[in-house]
Amino acid sequence: MIADNDHSPVTVIGLGPMGQAMANVFLDHGHEVTVWNRTMSKADELVAKGATRASTVNEALTANELVILSLTDYDAMYAILEPASENLPGRVFVNLSSDTPEKAREAAKWVGVRGARHITGGVQVPPSGIGLSESSTYYSGPREAFEAHQKTLEMLTGSDYRGEDPGLAALYYQIQMDIFWTSMLSYLHALAVANKNGITAEEFLPYASKTMSSLPQFLEFYTPRLDAGKHPGDVDRLAMGFASVEHIVHTTKDAGIDISLPAAILEVFKRGMENGHASDSFTSLIEIFKKDGVTA
Ligand code: NDP
Repeated sequence: MIADNDHSPVTVIGLGPMGQAMANVFLDHGHEVTVWNRTMSKADELVAKGATRASTVNEALTANELVILSLTDYDAMYAILEPASENLPGRVFVNLSSDTPEKAREAAKWVGVRGARHITGGVQVPPSGIGLSESSTYYSGPREAFEAHQKTLEMLTGSDYRGEDPGLAALYYQIQMDIFWTSMLSYLHALAVANKNGITAEEFLPYASKTMSSLPQFLEFYTPRLDAGKHPGDVDRLAMGFASVEHIVHTTKDAGIDISLPAAILEVFKRGMENGHASDSFTSLIEIFKKDGVTA
């Protein structure tokens, strides 16, 4: 058990791998669980284990105050809840579907004007991490509603409440995914170059891991400077970084590997140089990102 359990009954809507894992954990901890999924057969194993199958969305909503949504995205939420609007009042929706902060804010308003409350969640683990206390989920939205259901939610993972703004949980999730995908692609790119030079993933592993695990030291060193908006070139200079990325592009080309990833990085360095940052730290590139941001 990962938290004191109050055994509150709960509805789970959406039974993909994530929703299935969540409903299973609630059942394992003795909660009454009502489930609904567009493809009904996905509820079969849960029903065999003791869950109640709601035959309609309305039935799933009226069963419990707490409704967990585990859907592909927020559009799926509207597709499911719009036709059942009359049964929204009084519900607390904990939306554990991934989407953007803006979508989460819109959804919180949409749910709010229909007399219900919306808590945004950003689950940081795959289905295998559901039910483990070391796993964590970001939450944001009305504090009182979150705290009222915190114990039940902590059956799933630990919780990290980020604040009242419904967009915050989605934002924290997306900025972590930003780091995850760009880092993992850099690893795959480097491995492609390594492979072309006869180095296997196994041989590369300790070296790739060493570089990855050195990154927190850089984050710690640069954090106060970034918060102060200062980018002194005392320990690194953008011009040096530019030359280094050029070497990566050339090494990639020589290996016959796609250069699009390092070329995109070189392009950002180039814009930094053109904007007069050659003698500043590479962290000055944050100004380039901010300056060239496009709001859709
Ligand atoms: P899936 O996409 O496999 O399942 C999503 C569920 O959404 C299914 O129950 C599906 O129903 C339902 N759904 C999608 N569109 C509609 C619609 N238009 N109307 C009704 N129902 C719909 O996702 P997962 O279970 O893997 O994940 C759920 C959420 O959790 C996602 O937002 C994902 O990004 C997030 N997440 C997932 C992780 C993972 O490793 N899986 C990790 C962290 C977060 P049906 O079965 O009928 O198709």
